[in-house]
Amino acid sequence: MTVRTRFAPSPTGFLHLGGARTALYSWLYAKKMGGEFILRIEDTDRERSTQEAIDAILDAMTWLGLDWDEGPFYQMHRLERYHEVAEELLTSGDAYRCYCSKERLEKLKTDQIQNKEKPRYDNHCRPNVYGTQRPPQSGPFVIRLRTPDTGTVVVNDSVHGKVSFQNKELDDLILVRTDGVPTYHFGVVIDDFDMRITHVIRGDDHLANTPRQINILKAMKVEPPLYTHVSMILGSDGKRLSKRHGAISVQHYREDGILPDALLNYLVRLGWSHGDQEIFSRAEMIQHFDIHNLNKAASIFDPEKLHWLNQHAIKTEEPEALCRELQQHFEHLGVSTAEGPSVTDVFMAQRERAKTLKEMAQKSLYFYQNFEAIDPDAKHKHLTLDIKPVLTALREALAELPNWQAPMIHNTITEVAEKHGVKLGKLAQPLRIAVTGNTMSPPIDITCALIGQKRVLERLQQALLSIEG
Ligand code: GLU
Repeated sequence: MTVRTRFAPSPTGFLHLGGARTALYSWLYAKKMGGEFILRIEDTDRERSTQEAIDAILDAMTWLGLDWDEGPFYQMHRLERYHEVAEELLTSGDAYRCYCSKERLEKLKTDQIQNKEKPRYDNHCRPNVYGTQRPPQSGPFVIRLRTPDTGTVVVNDSVHGKVSFQNKELDDLILVRTDGVPTYHFGVVIDDFDMRITHVIRGDDHLANTPRQINILKAMKVEPPLYTHVSMILGSDGKRLSKRHGAISVQHYREDGILPDALLNYLVRLGWSHGDQEIFSRAEMIQHFDIHNLNKAASIFDPEKLHWLNQHAIKTEEPEALCRELQQHFEHLGVSTAEGPSVTDVFMAQRERAKTLKEMAQKSLYFYQNFEAIDPDAKHKHLTLDIKPVLTALREALAELPNWQAPMIHNTITEVAEKHGVKLGKLAQPLRIAVTGNTMSPPIDITCALIGQKRVLERLQQALLSIEG
């Protein structure tokens, strides 16, 4: 049997970290088993679903490289099919039309709460229940499942084991609303069946929904898929990760300069482990991932670890795609890279020095544009009267260089330092501050080579003029 998994987001917002991890686990399991991964957009909540959210989800999936074999399927395109199944269940007596008004249902709920009962539908419209009190046969109606009154439903879950639920705890849930649109429970069950999904992998907030879905499947006389309910991701305060904790959307991490591989690597380890291994290539994830050793306990989101993985990815991944992303970060910062060093050269010089591509772009502005002012502390400490004559001599020597390349620049700095009896570092740091405005940069010869001769000389001149005396 071919393994078929799916990711079925509701397009009511951006793809958040929890959703991305669910998508990743489903994708990984399909890949590992040589199976297929299906993308389905659950857009039946028409008030909250938006095209913008659909686009953002598809974009984020593509950026993460979680490619799907089939889809995206849209539930709102499948209404006919849901009606067909609803008709079958009405005919078999497993479902019935309920004409209860909103007012009646609200009163029922208020009364139940007042009587300290669990709010639930009282089966008012169930055929053969209220004998004399026949519900009206016209007007708006919903379709409800006739849930068995007794017995248990067992959810077979690869994380939680066998979990039993009592049918008497479940009421007759709505399958189709008055406007003919199915509820989440009904749509999800029919789609998973029609799309031949073998493994349903999703957040464990859906575990409590599963007995209801299994009851629908039973009414359809269909075997349930295997379930994997993945633990929640929590913020550092132990509460479910949400907007309160700051960034939670994939899009946000992308804008922050996190790499897709680092994010996936981080997410895969939130809730799953393979010995002590922390760093996984995609191929390793596929090779080792298994839905049978997922953690039951919730995991805590740790942004520092994500940054650590990101730094590792920046250092080790093929530069080509990273340079394209870096270019975009420059664009977002309003920096033109048309004149100046190539983005690839800047990336290669900075790759050991930034935790994110955004940080790398921010730290590389001086390659493309003049800075407003030298950092005052650095200036005070390093651009002193003592060093002024040496720096002046260095500027003159650099102006003479016919070949503006790092080794020649390096030799020139060494020669001038020797001639004036100062240590290399004592000259390199003032030079760095003069040409970058700051104390941190790649090796000074490479930095100068990338900034370009003309700009280096201009900036040195400015710095020298600013040293009083
Ligand atoms: N649309 C549901 C959600 O986004 C999917 C749940 C499921 O995977 O069954 O939570």
